[in-house]
Amino acid sequence: MTAGSAPSRVLAVGAHPDDIELFAGATLATWAAAGCEVHHLVCTDGSKGTWDPSADTTALVAARQEEQREAARTLGATGQVVFLDNVDGELVADRETTHAVAAWIRQIRPEVVLGHDPWRRWRLHPDHRAAGFLVTDGVVAARDPHFLTDLDVPHHRPDLLLLFDTEEPDHPVEVDSQAAHTKADAVLAHKSQLLSTLGIPDDDDGSAESAFRDRTIADLAEVGGRFGLPLAEGFRNIRGL
Ligand SMILES: [Zn+2]
Repeated sequence: MTAGSAPSRVLAVGAHPDDIELFAGATLATWAAAGCEVHHLVCTDGSKGTWDPSADTTALVAARQEEQREAARTLGATGQVVFLDNVDGELVADRETTHAVAAWIRQIRPEVVLGHDPWRRWRLHPDHRAAGFLVTDGVVAARDPHFLTDLDVPHHRPDLLLLFDTEEPDHPVEVDSQAAHTKADAVLAHKSQLLSTLGIPDDDDGSAESAFRDRTIADLAEVGGRFGLPLAEGFRNIRGL
């Protein structure tokens, strides 16, 4: 993969349904449009993603899985959408879960792995931190042949590990306005999260959704501006894989 070109196969790992679209949606839309096979791995079941204390969380989990599949389709992703189904809010980067992530990396054999930056300072949500360590530690366990020896799956070393949701991006991926709109559409596919995550009320007359689309473009322009690009998403490139 050369600078500016799309990889052939990627795996994005997010803590919750919606994180992958929020943090890397324009990049994945860009790569999918160029023929890249995009796979999703979602670590938790999203069962705490509501402000309604009386919500039926079993129904919420099912709805969020369907929303995640729809969001992936919206991005143009043709790969698998895998759910690890850990309890939302209680994700731990223990050995068992790390090895589950590593096993998926070995099976999918992505050229690029994307995930949360676990070292981001002052972040509140524990699942984003844990999901970050699951992806960094998972890459090591996928890469080194003496991990997962009980599985008959050959080890795999990705070419790139890109961390999103990062304080200090050093690796921009340039996107165009079409990809920016596709990202917004994919985030909006997570319908159960419109109020709690995006601040869009149920009775929105379209103005809150329109403001969200404007924010999406403005954020991509801000990141792009740091790198002399019109629109971009920013990642931390973990070197020395
Ligand atoms: Zn999240």
